[in-house]
Amino acid sequence: MAEGLDIRLGHAVERVAWGEAGVTLTLAGGEVLEAHRVIITVPVGVLQAGKPGFDPPLPEAKQTAIDTIAVGHVIKLMLWFDHQLWPDFVVLRTDGRIVTWWVVESAATPTVMGYVGGPAALELSALGEQEVINLGLAELSQLFGADAADACLGGRMSSWSEDPWSLGGYTYSPVGMGDAREALAAPLGPLHFAGEATLTNGHIATVHGAIESGWRAADEVIAAPVRQSIH
Ligand SMILES: Cc1cc2nc3c(=O)[nH]c(=O)nc-3n(C[C@H](O)[C@H](O)[C@H](O)COP(=O)(O)OP(=O)(O)OC[C@H]3O[C@@H](n4cnc5c(N)ncnc54)[C@H](O)[C@@H]3O)c2cc1C
Repeated sequence: MAEGLDIRLGHAVERVAWGEAGVTLTLAGGEVLEAHRVIITVPVGVLQAGKPGFDPPLPEAKQTAIDTIAVGHVIKLMLWFDHQLWPDFVVLRTDGRIVTWWVVESAATPTVMGYVGGPAALELSALGEQEVINLGLAELSQLFGADAADACLGGRMSSWSEDPWSLGGYTYSPVGMGDAREALAAPLGPLHFAGEATLTNGHIATVHGAIESGWRAADEVIAAPVRQSIH
């Protein structure tokens, strides 16, 4: 699908200047890009942190929608071993602090992935990677009656709320959210909005939902009047 398109990775947008004439994007390196229309797919956690900056600022309805949609926390803990410590399983729920474990079938060496969501994810993330690895190994030792630390070849923790490019796992719908997702998805002059948070059909927090929202925003752009000049 990307063939022939000018896709630029690693280009962080710091400022979106928008108006009737079009959109001017200022990138982190100072480069300026101009466009008739822009589809914004930055995660809600990042928008809530005021990034990128909008000039003029987004109107109240749009900003309220951004502030109202809730962003959840997720960590994953990946641990890999020199041999398989566990009997075959697919997913395991426990009453430990790492509440869910999956076996990672695609890994080259026996690997499990711990998954924790919600406020507990933030608490674990605050302990730091090494502490959470130690905790995970202790819980696996207890679960499987083996010395997990001795067999462990390595570990990594991902914390999406600490990642400056996501600032959260995925969105959820708090009580009283009303039509915030519709308000976020609504086009605003030359600005269009897509991403998992803009779904109103229940497909939030998924890859297929994010893709559907991209199709919706692309249809909006295609249907919009074509401007001859961006100035
Ligand atoms: C732990 C975890 C597990 C998941 N598991 C599943 C699963 O099994 N199945 C499933 O369907 N979905 C899953 N999801 C959800 C899925 O990953 C998301 O719903 C989907 O990636 C959202 O797509 P998006 O395009 O809205 O946002 P993202 O994928 O977050 O893309 C937003 C992009 O914006 C970029 N960006 C941020 N700020 C700027 C800026 N200033 N300038 C330029 N670019 C910027 C980011 O780098 C990022 O590339 C999971 C999510 C998490 C966190």
